[in-house]
Amino acid sequence: MTQFASHVIVLLFMNAKLEVLSRVFGYAAFRPGQEILIDALLDGRDAIAVLPTGAGKSVCYQIPALMTNGVTYVISPLVSLMHDQVGALRQCGVAAAYLNSTLTPGQYRKAIANAAQGMYKIIYIAPERLNTDSFRSLIAAQPPTLLAVDEAHCVSQWGHDFRPSYLEIRPFLETLPVRPTVAAFTATATQKVRGDIGELLGLRDPIRYTASFDRPNLFFDVKRVRGKADRDKALLSEIADANGRSGIIYCATRRNVDHVFEMLTDLGYPAARYHAGLPDDERRRAQDQFLLDERPILAATNAFGMGINKSNVSFVIHYNMPGDLESYYQEAGRAGRDGTPARCVLLFAAEDIFTQRGLIESSENGVKSPDDLRLSRERLERMIAYCTGSRCLRGKILRYFDEASPDACGNCGCCAAARESVDATDFARTAFSLIKATGGFFSVGTLARLLKGGTAPRTGEKYRGAVGFGAYEHWTLRRVDAWVNALADNLYLLTESEPYHRVLLTQQALEVLNGVECHIDIPAEHTTEHPESVSRIQTRKSSVNKQAPHGVEGAGLSRTSFGGTGGGTSAYSEELFERLRALRQSIAKDQKMPAYIVFSNATLYDMCEKAPVTIEQFLSVSGVGEHKARLYGHRFLEEIRAYSKNRSN
Ligand code: ADP
Ligand code: ZN
Repeated sequence: MTQFASHVIVLLFMNAKLEVLSRVFGYAAFRPGQEILIDALLDGRDAIAVLPTGAGKSVCYQIPALMTNGVTYVISPLVSLMHDQVGALRQCGVAAAYLNSTLTPGQYRKAIANAAQGMYKIIYIAPERLNTDSFRSLIAAQPPTLLAVDEAHCVSQWGHDFRPSYLEIRPFLETLPVRPTVAAFTATATQKVRGDIGELLGLRDPIRYTASFDRPNLFFDVKRVRGKADRDKALLSEIADANGRSGIIYCATRRNVDHVFEMLTDLGYPAARYHAGLPDDERRRAQDQFLLDERPILAATNAFGMGINKSNVSFVIHYNMPGDLESYYQEAGRAGRDGTPARCVLLFAAEDIFTQRGLIESSENGVKSPDDLRLSRERLERMIAYCTGSRCLRGKILRYFDEASPDACGNCGCCAAARESVDATDFARTAFSLIKATGGFFSVGTLARLLKGGTAPRTGEKYRGAVGFGAYEHWTLRRVDAWVNALADNLYLLTESEPYHRVLLTQQALEVLNGVECHIDIPAEHTTEHPESVSRIQTRKSSVNKQAPHGVEGAGLSRTSFGGTGGGTSAYSEELFERLRALRQSIAKDQKMPAYIVFSNATLYDMCEKAPVTIEQFLSVSGVGEHKARLYGHRFLEEIRAYSKNRSN
């Protein structure tokens, strides 16, 4: 991308923010929070905006920037973010630039000189540059009207992304002869960090807007797997369903990243890998290949992701259970930023619990204080609770962030399964009581025999007469066995690995026994036959798919013309989508920029749906502003025409 090749849009005649939203960004309506924040900033009021990823924070300061005289400066912690934002703005015809370490000294000087002459409306800057002489002289020539602080939680030491240079922002503001309006943006979830932001940035009576953390377009699911082969199988089945769309596979260890990468590459998938054990240049290349969709599937550790803006990520699969729900939600939340339906699937096996416990208790990363240990353990318990049981997954996430949530969201794996579940409360209570009364020194298979009132070779007559013994005498052993396995599958029971191989009650089982939780549902299909893990995964999957096919349909959007289930128009749209996606890819390649900066997936879907013929119709597509219509309109219209002609022949 050339540094200075932007068009300046003259917005003299535009005073309505909605008109800017439509003409520049190509969107017809504001999303929740955007209008309130834009109005506040246009009024000269400071703001703290807490909006989840993908909610559309950028336009909240970009629109005021375009509607006021003078320059808006945006402080951003990462060069990748600045690069994307400036690229996206230029695609919309907005004169924007960044000042950071990726520029050569010559380029930097030139950018400063251009900026000083007022060539840019929006300038992104790294916080470390604020107090440099060159920037100070720029500020003297072009004082800020508005200062936006992106990823504002970096100012807080309580957050995991603390950046000391963010603490320079407040003193910097105090040195300015005229204080600009200041707006802080973050997607952080913790109260403590949110509190720090206003204080440490020196905001004055800011308006605070906190949006819901719900991401309705994300479909959440947890898939219970047994052993490595099963994990791989579940992963491959997800990848096959993704049908070439882009996604991330998060793994707990570098070794797993390597394993997943090699497996996918061997099978011919365009995958890349990213972890801290790889040389810098290899990591950078992997990131670029992923962002540019040359290799749309990325296997990575949690080292990957901070500052990644890729909007067309259609799935995030966790190959292993992470250690806490906040990290999980942050990583999973990298899917579906463009608002189109996306899948967040966690592959979970009981051994993940032992791995995470091991990580907490190990002193590898320094000795932890008792408080830290307790917190980590509590966080892990919440994570395990997310993976187990049968309650709505979205509900569990929102409650974690102290948000009210309905009992059932209708768009997660548990809600899908609950439609076909049976009440297992009495059975579970009886089984749990028997374990509690006897100490559980036997296997899950023996537990079934005891409930049936039989004896087992190892235990003999020992437990005859115990609470629950023979309570399910009238059932077939196969059936009792299936139900006991279903309880184990849904993580009410665990088998201790050593020393006794006992059956253990999990926290959630104890809650049922103690009356804290008073209802247990298990998927009906778990109870009808002896579960065979692989076939079950497939059955569950197909029932989930009916609800929300991969990528597009059924996840809270009204779009109906996509997805693999229907006939009719779906094949038509899917094929057109592929053609438009290929065109977008070739344009992006020519311009050496990520495809999602040319057009987001959401825009391509809308384009398929509207199938515009004229440039006016093209402009009505969501995400097509005037500049992009001029740049790309004819090529996309041509593709759509060619496609329609092909079909009618
Ligand atoms: P955030 O920074 O909050 O994660 P972005 O600013 O990157 O989110 O916006 C996410 C996506 O939503 C972008 O593709 C953006 O163009 C799009 N977007 C923003 N506002 C709107 C809107 N009002 N209508 C439709 N799409 C929007
Ligand atoms: Zn749900």
